[in-house]
Amino acid sequence: TGVGGRFTLADLPLRDDLRGKSAYGAPQLRVPVILNTNENPHPPSQALVDDVAKAVGSAAEELHRYPDRDAIDLRTDLAAYLSRATGVSLTVDNLWAANGSNEILQQILQAFGGPGRTAMGFVPSYSMHPIISDGTQTEWVPAHRADDYGLDVDAAIAAIAEHRPDVVFVTSPNNPTGESLPAADVAAIVRAAPGVVIVDEAYAEFSDEPSAVTLLDEYGAKLIVSRTMSKAFAFAGGRLGYLAAAPAMIEALLLVRLPYHLSVITQAAARAALQHSAETLGSVTALVAERERVVAALTEMGFDVSPSNANFILFGEFADAPATWQRYLDDGVLIRDVGLPGRLRATIGLPAENDAFLAVSEKLAATDR
Ligand code: PMP
Repeated sequence: TGVGGRFTLADLPLRDDLRGKSAYGAPQLRVPVILNTNENPHPPSQALVDDVAKAVGSAAEELHRYPDRDAIDLRTDLAAYLSRATGVSLTVDNLWAANGSNEILQQILQAFGGPGRTAMGFVPSYSMHPIISDGTQTEWVPAHRADDYGLDVDAAIAAIAEHRPDVVFVTSPNNPTGESLPAADVAAIVRAAPGVVIVDEAYAEFSDEPSAVTLLDEYGAKLIVSRTMSKAFAFAGGRLGYLAAAPAMIEALLLVRLPYHLSVITQAAARAALQHSAETLGSVTALVAERERVVAALTEMGFDVSPSNANFILFGEFADAPATWQRYLDDGVLIRDVGLPGRLRATIGLPAENDAFLAVSEKLAATDR
């Protein structure tokens, strides 16, 4: 329907390498219990909402002007947070920010990937890594994780030696499996890689492993650590991702970023939210405790649960994962079918949401699954 509705994708002069590809498409359904996109289930406090509204209100008085292209104040605040979180003294020159870490990853591939270049990831991992590679015409070279989804560092180094990728993605904690990679293993991968290594730490705050930020001083010519305010910071709707790297890396990204990519509204809202980081990050402890409760309950019911350092869990075994996904949804619980045979992923929610998820799981455990 709509004007021009008779034309299909096949009628368009689309790039050949995009034909037949699928768009990112986690279902956005309004159901009682939403546990499918690894959001923080704790809504912002009234104090945070009020401060964001005030900051956005003042920013609106300047809407006729372009924003600070380099987002200096925001990057300074992010540097202060990440220095506190990792114990590494970072400055504004070590930080870069964009509209979600997806845009961060895209900018990195625009600068370091592209036509004639390759990007390697260790799958299963975050589904956007290959999609962003496709979008930037970077050839995606998947290497496979072990059968238990753990990352065997020797196998990873062998795959890097064989394919010599220009970009390597390491996701820690890994989505959808939940496992973190120790910093020593990240360092071994960085040493083996001929090009840039992106450590995607979207879920770092939920993990007890030290951040790869601790490796930046030694490996600054190759290492980029990507982070986000979407998960622990409960700011997914605000769209704010960032990275830590050597200043020269950020100089490289300035070559590809669109000017004024972060609106004054985004910058003001993110800075106001960051002022509340102590209180927001308090939810991390609660979510980790809930994660342990959910893992124990599922294990007790006879499910196999992958060890998780994140705010979600991967579990199974199911004879038919898509059918089981639908049975959860029929009971009002939206989880994620990540396309792995026999496995589903569930985000850790509020206690009552986790109870609802566990109640459906209990029913499934009692019947055939
Ligand atoms: N990296 C990983 C591993 C993720 O799971 C996600 C979100 N699902 C992102 C990056 C992107 O998040 P955002 O763009 O909201 O920062």
